[in-house]
Amino acid sequence: AFPIVVIVGRPNVGKSSLFNMLAGRRISIVDPTAGVTRDRISTILEAEGRHFELIDTGGMGILDVDNLTEDVERQIRVAIEMAAVVLFVVDIREGAAPLDQVVAERLRVIGKPVIFVANKADEMTHDTAVSDLFRLGYGEPVMVSANSKRGKDELVFKILDAL
Ligand code: GDP
Ligand code: MG
Repeated sequence: AFPIVVIVGRPNVGKSSLFNMLAGRRISIVDPTAGVTRDRISTILEAEGRHFELIDTGGMGILDVDNLTEDVERQIRVAIEMAAVVLFVVDIREGAAPLDQVVAERLRVIGKPVIFVANKADEMTHDTAVSDLFRLGYGEPVMVSANSKRGKDELVFKILDAL
């Protein structure tokens, strides 16, 4: 079995989009409605001659807005059980949301390497919003845009480094 990389983050930050961007094809379901992902979705990726399994766990069917914390708790349980490395994904355009704080605190104590990823950094102008994200306590995020593929290589190298 290959080491497992689990994508964690509150609904709608672009976890499934990031999964598809890294996979290089559309596997996971992306939906503008918060919390739409069917089941746990995984794919094997190869980079620099090394392999890892990437898992998108976000959301089972359409989530009740009251159950968003429950959804991230479920993702974190998967991370605790399976992950060699965790990708903690946030939306740079929204900054540090209360549910991001919950995820940040839960991930801090699981004893696994966490790569902090700021998605939706479609344009360099978004990068100025990064200071708000420091409040989550994970330092400088990797800036990516799942839509434009910005940051893909940097993120893959960070994953390989952390494995
Ligand atoms: P998830 O709930 O975390 O899995 O998020 P999704 O991948 O389903 O994406 C939620 C919404 O954000 C969708 O409307 C996506 O098209 C949008 N989105 C995802 N990545 C990006 C990005 O890099 N830039 C922009 N502008 N929108 C994105
Ligand atoms: Mg999703």
